[in-house]
Parts: sequence; structure tokens; C-alpha cells
Amino acid sequence: MKTVVCPGSFDPVTNGHLDIIERAAALFDKVIVVVMVNASKTPLFTTEQRVDMLRRSTAHLENVTVDSYDGLLAAYARQQGATVIVKGLRALSDFEYEFQMALTNRQLNEELETVFLTATDDKMYLSSSLVKQVAAYGEDVSKFVPACILQDITEKFGKDG
Ligand code: ADP
Repeated sequence: MKTVVCPGSFDPVTNGHLDIIERAAALFDKVIVVVMVNASKTPLFTTEQRVDMLRRSTAHLENVTVDSYDGLLAAYARQQGATVIVKGLRALSDFEYEFQMALTNRQLNEELETVFLTATDDKMYLSSSLVKQVAAYGEDVSKFVPACILQDITEKFGKDG
């Protein structure tokens, strides 16, 4: 039984994240999507809201669960018995940071491998910050996020911007 973790901020979850989660769920037995509570970032949505949006967005995936964690990913993975971290790689710009993180996580937990799934071409431009920028101006973000979280976004920014 191979358990993997898919970490991120998910502030909010986008179709790009969902694509990686769905592909991880097809490759591995159990996928734990974990909202990492990062003290250096000020998220728009609370941890509970991000977990809730992810749960609704992944409800169709039987082997996916959603959690949150305030601490180091290497420690969380060990605690969950997960030996693989699955991450999406969008472009060269993601590479340096992700490479550094993967090497650090291996130092902290030598059983931990990081697997990168290349972003799907029509979703590789997507990011949570792009969604927030577009939504802040009252524009439609339905092409970028799962339909079940659209209302959470409009409520956060107020109707029609
Ligand atoms: P961001 O980098 O937008 O703040 P997260 O930290 O929530 O997003 O990202 C979690 C994971 O999802 C990371 O591995 C990131 O590379 C991946 N990811 C984010 N957006 C996409 C996308 N559009 N396509 C593929 N992977 C993505």
C-alpha cells in the first residue's frame, strides 16, 4: 500500500492542483492532500476553508483524503507512513525551489522520495495568486477553479467585485 502526500497552500485550490491530485490518485493507493500552514504566508482563506474547499473538490476521488498540518512536511509524512511526496512542476521557475525542497526533505527523512508530475499544458499557467488577482476585479474565474468552490470565491470578494 503506497501512501503519498500532496502538499501545498491551496489558497484556493485550482484546476491545476486538481489535475495533479487526480493523476496522483490514479498512480498511488492512497493520497493525502495536506494544506501546509506556513507562518510566513498570509493566506486569503483560513486553513479550515482551504481544507473544506479541497474536500468538496476531491469528493469524487475515493482514495483521496484532505488534512492540514502546522509543521515540517518531512515530519508529517513520517507520521502518516507516507514515503512519497507528489508535486506538480509548472515550469522552469518552479524547478529551483522544488529541487531545494526535495533535497531538504530527504535530509530530514531519508525514506522520503519526491515525485514530480509535469503540469498539463492547458493548466500550467494556473496559480492560486492568478485566481485571486482575477477574482479581486470581479471577473469570472470559473475556467480556473472547480465549480463547487466558485461561490466561496465570490463570497470572499463580494458579489460582482
Ligand atoms: P502555489 O505554488 O500556486 O502557491 P501551492 O503551494 O498550493 O500553489 O501548490 C501546491 C502544489 O501544486 C505544488 O507542487 C505546485 O507546483 C502544484 N501546482 C500548483 N499549480 C499547478 C498547476 N497549474 N499545474 C500543476 N501543478 C501545480
